Amino acid sequence: MPDIIINDIIVTFPFKPYPVQEEYMRKVIECLQNSQHGVLESPTGTGKTLSLLCSSLSWLLTKKAQLQAQVIAGAIEKKDFGGNFFKYLTSGLEKAAGVPDNVQSFGWAIPKIIYASRTHSQLSQAMYELKKTSYKHVATAVLGSRDQLCIHPEISKETSSFNKIHMCHAKVKSRTCFYFNNVEARKDDPVFKQEVLDIEDLIKVGQKHKCCPYFLAKELKQNADIIFMPYNYLLDPKTRRSQGIDLQNTVVLLDEAHNVEKVCEEAASLQISSTDIAMCIDEVTAVMQDMTKDSDQQNDFLSENNVQKDFTAEDLCILKAMFLELEKAIDSIELKNRSEGDTFPGGYIFELLEKIELTHGKEQIVVDKLDKLILYLTTTSTSPFARKGNALQKFSDLLRTAFNSSASIARHKEKVKRCYKVHIQMEEQKKNYKNDVWESKKTIKTDGKLISYWCFSPGFGMEQMVEQGIRSVVLTSGTLSPLKPFISELGIPIAVQLENPHIVTKEQVCVGVLSQGPDNHPLNSSYNTRNDPKYIASLGRTVYNFSCIVPHGLLIFFPSYPIMKKCRDEWQNMGLWTQIAERKPIYVEPNSKDGFVNVMNEYYQKIKDPSCKGAVFMAVCRGKVSEGLDFANANGRAVLIIGLPFPPLKDPRIMLKQRYLEEIRTIKKEGLTGQEWYQLEASRAVNQAIGRIIRHKNDYGAVILCDCRFENLNFKKQLSAWLRPYIKKFTNFGIITKELREFFRNAENILPQPNITHAQYGNIDISLPAVSAAFETTVSHSLKQKTQNNSATEELTKNSFDINMYLDESAKDKQSLKSQSAINFSACKLKDNQSTCELAKYRSEEPVAKRRKINIISPGINSYFSAPSTSSLKVSEINSGQNFTQNDKDMKYDKKALGKQYLKDVKRALSASDYKIFANMIQSYTQSGDFDELLKTLSNLFPPTGLLQHLFIGFQSFLKKQHIATFENYIKNFKLP
Ligand code: SF4
Repeated sequence: MPDIIINDIIVTFPFKPYPVQEEYMRKVIECLQNSQHGVLESPTGTGKTLSLLCSSLSWLLTKKAQLQAQVIAGAIEKKDFGGNFFKYLTSGLEKAAGVPDNVQSFGWAIPKIIYASRTHSQLSQAMYELKKTSYKHVATAVLGSRDQLCIHPEISKETSSFNKIHMCHAKVKSRTCFYFNNVEARKDDPVFKQEVLDIEDLIKVGQKHKCCPYFLAKELKQNADIIFMPYNYLLDPKTRRSQGIDLQNTVVLLDEAHNVEKVCEEAASLQISSTDIAMCIDEVTAVMQDMTKDSDQQNDFLSENNVQKDFTAEDLCILKAMFLELEKAIDSIELKNRSEGDTFPGGYIFELLEKIELTHGKEQIVVDKLDKLILYLTTTSTSPFARKGNALQKFSDLLRTAFNSSASIARHKEKVKRCYKVHIQMEEQKKNYKNDVWESKKTIKTDGKLISYWCFSPGFGMEQMVEQGIRSVVLTSGTLSPLKPFISELGIPIAVQLENPHIVTKEQVCVGVLSQGPDNHPLNSSYNTRNDPKYIASLGRTVYNFSCIVPHGLLIFFPSYPIMKKCRDEWQNMGLWTQIAERKPIYVEPNSKDGFVNVMNEYYQKIKDPSCKGAVFMAVCRGKVSEGLDFANANGRAVLIIGLPFPPLKDPRIMLKQRYLEEIRTIKKEGLTGQEWYQLEASRAVNQAIGRIIRHKNDYGAVILCDCRFENLNFKKQLSAWLRPYIKKFTNFGIITKELREFFRNAENILPQPNITHAQYGNIDISLPAVSAAFETTVSHSLKQKTQNNSATEELTKNSFDINMYLDESAKDKQSLKSQSAINFSACKLKDNQSTCELAKYRSEEPVAKRRKINIISPGINSYFSAPSTSSLKVSEINSGQNFTQNDKDMKYDKKALGKQYLKDVKRALSASDYKIFANMIQSYTQSGDFDELLKTLSNLFPPTGLLQHLFIGFQSFLKKQHIATFENYIKNFKLP
């Protein structure tokens, strides 16, 4: 592995680093050498994680060497110890590792690196990268939850993680977990330290050696050089405490840091309702009742685990009285605005708690008592439906959050006043889709109140974390742009910044703003137009066209679940859904966790299947797919962004955040305005979704921003820096399709096609054979596909067109084609959770006769399928002989747009009554298949030797397969071109 020297440190990299990687490592080392904080953006695919690990670990090893030299020098206590050699050594190490720390003991002074990312899946990927480097021998540890790591046969089966925690506490306290007891005896076993163990490895070795992986990880953490953990462990003070994470003298590397602001705010915020307080009273009462009964009969688990009741009847009475008082205090809050709620300064939370005499210092006594009660409730419960202390836990969390501070209480209260708001509204029962953070909620009002204690400053949590003795924090991601507002929100001094370019070339990226659909209808998903059927139809036609042009995987990101659902329903009703699914099966991001893995698997399998033309994945911005999945190579060749994913304007938290920013701006005279933040939220979500594709240096893909509002200069400035130079504006649909076809053809020719594509989701690793890109718009290619396919039904499905889709709504209305359609597309409507594969099955089982389809045939002399797809092309140009001699390769044009052009020309050429005859002719031919009748009518409308002969010839594209040869002979007899 090559060694390179960066800022006087030798970094061993697995290969010769690219300039962007070298620059990135330089910035990381700069932060660590000078104990500064940095914000570094480097696009996905630039080897960011590898560079981060190699540079930080090189610095750590150098720092260790410096400390060793320091300790030796200190032990000898001679100024001239070691002569010039030692002098040069220490000055060299000072240059490389930074100013020496003032230490007496080597062990305590060694810094640790904490590598934090968003999910365990991302952590596993980082650990996998580490295994490939020469730093794989450093001591590592990974932290996880009991949910992931518990191997106790009974407790690991418990479904509630809250119960799992407390049941484990009881087992540990009573030393009745065999796996826990074994950790103490086996923790120094070299088998646990030989290699980098990720969560899965840890479970395996834990099971093999009968040691609890959860507590083993905590032991390994003590002497680890680098500790991996999800970043909520780090940013949430409650979890930090429960996991025993000591930040003194650590270097914190926050990868995928684009969500850090939100996580900081959420970790420091909390909601509690009247219902929660009522449940606290119930839970305390339940324990009181228990105490009056014979404890021997009631508490099997308790006695078995030797858990003592660490509270008295008096404690319970005090707690119950306290909750009753609190209930009264909350009830007595008068809301001026009952419908929207009232907002109070952050300090209001202390005023409310003071009403029940809960002040600083006393809260810890209450928290301790509550913890004991919770332990009792969780360990004595025998029924999954019994009360288990959830409400008490919520109240305990509120106290911990409100009083959480290592600083003086006065300073803490001052900060709370600045960074928090208390919002009180009437309590509602919320019904909303899981995972959809921005969805508008359907609610039912109740008489209680909901108290939201919201932190609006990510800096509040960041400052608290840094105050724990951290040396440096490096925040990094592929999508942090624009950096200035990101940094202004962090609240810690950022000395080092980087916005790296991408390593891909212009041949690998195609970015465009598309402001109109193929029918020239504006694409605009703003509130006023998003439900317009014409917009939805135009969007569906846009997706259909791209599904024909984009090879393999096509990702579509919607602003929210409701918009995605609306489009899905409408497209199904219009029949567009089926048409898209016929090109590429469609997969939709589900709400549930289990369903998610299944759908991802199905999608990846479909891309892998060489007999398929890829697949479409529909997902939402800020959802699971957009926030962390990898769609490298064939898995994602293009991403369509449908609209701007703004947060819901009327959400009280969103409104208050904007108001908070305005207040801060008035005081500090700098920082983001509320409106700027609101726009940034949307653009960051877009950047994140775009980052799913183009994942390595030989990858390529297209990004289409399907909304005219993306043309706004302000928005363009907020896109990732590396994308900005490539953005093009497309107002003509024909031009974008042409450009895309050329882009993919060129990329496939000049870039190596990978033999294997890896897709990773969580623990699932799927290997995908590369599928050669094919342009399905080529009619001859479609026919070639047909010969490979034995199923006549499928042939018809794959190669037939519905003429209806070319006709605009008014024409369809005039002809009443819609009402007479032989296909009921709405019958193909997907049920919830039904995958599109099922839809595809359904379609192929449908009787062929039921489908009102007209085959596309090899055109030969077909002008409309050999001419460029542009509506500005004149009929006379289309009719010129040169267009009939195009070869198959040149015929990779958009059939749909050309079909539409043909119909436009027909409409222009015929009178209203003749057009009606034409429409009836199509309908009758579709239903009866009577070719002679068709020929007769067609010849009457467009005499083959007359001026409209091009329209006569052009109809060939809509003929059924069995009539093509006859039609060609017919044309030959007339000696037509
Ligand atoms: S000690 Fe470990 S194995 Fe035992 S219950 Fe707790 S988490 Fe599970």
